[in-house]
Amino acid sequence: MSSMPLHPVAIARTPFVEKFAIPRQPSLAPAARACIELVAPYNQPEALQGLEQVSHIWLLFAFHAVPADNPAAPRLRVRPPRLGGNEWLGVFATRSTHRPNGIGQSVVKLEKIEGTRLWVSGVDLLDGTPILDIKPYVPYADAIAAAHNAIAPAMPATTTVSWADSARTNAQAEGLRLGEDVEGLISQCLAQDPKPAYQKPEPAREYGVRLWDLNVVWHYPQPDQIHVLRVEKTAE
Ligand code: SAH
Repeated sequence: MSSMPLHPVAIARTPFVEKFAIPRQPSLAPAARACIELVAPYNQPEALQGLEQVSHIWLLFAFHAVPADNPAAPRLRVRPPRLGGNEWLGVFATRSTHRPNGIGQSVVKLEKIEGTRLWVSGVDLLDGTPILDIKPYVPYADAIAAAHNAIAPAMPATTTVSWADSARTNAQAEGLRLGEDVEGLISQCLAQDPKPAYQKPEPAREYGVRLWDLNVVWHYPQPDQIHVLRVEKTAE
């Protein structure tokens, strides 16, 4: 078998319209809710029959916003951001987005099923991500209490996030408009400190990201502190 066609079964609608500031694994931002919409010919409620009995699901997906690996010159080693972006590891020792076949996997919480839509939370997926498969999480087989990983032994340390009053007020108002925990999502994503680990942030430098239709702007008063300056609706 030299190649195998894949057909997306669904598409993910998420707050993350750009790659920057997306958590590096699921569960790190529980406020990151997404809607997984089945697509034809899988968009029939019967395809989800029984799944309501399950609290978490595996999503297998395509890293569609990463250029495909060239099979003639495959990338065998990568520099994962978790190690500061300057240490090499074999691609199969990492969860890098640059990999053969560009397949990602995330365990997410299944909040609710509505027809052919799955509402999930804790996602690390870009908006528009093609979902290749959906499977129930099976705790007795998938959760291995004795497992260890010396490369990523624990959740990454978090950065303290503070808010300008006006930014927080706006985030709360936009949250009411969107029906989402905007303030929580921003706090959770920025606590992961999205800037590249090797960058020394000058206090005067502003960083920004777009979440939904919002521009979020922050700076680093100290290298290990984030202060949210503004949350504004993008101009149409
Ligand atoms: N949990 C997955 C993904 C880990 S990498 C796995 O282990 O396979 C997570 C990063 O993938 C995010 O920080 C985001 O920047 C990137 N990402 C998410 N969806 C993507 C997509 N559709 N295309 C390219 N990159 C994506």
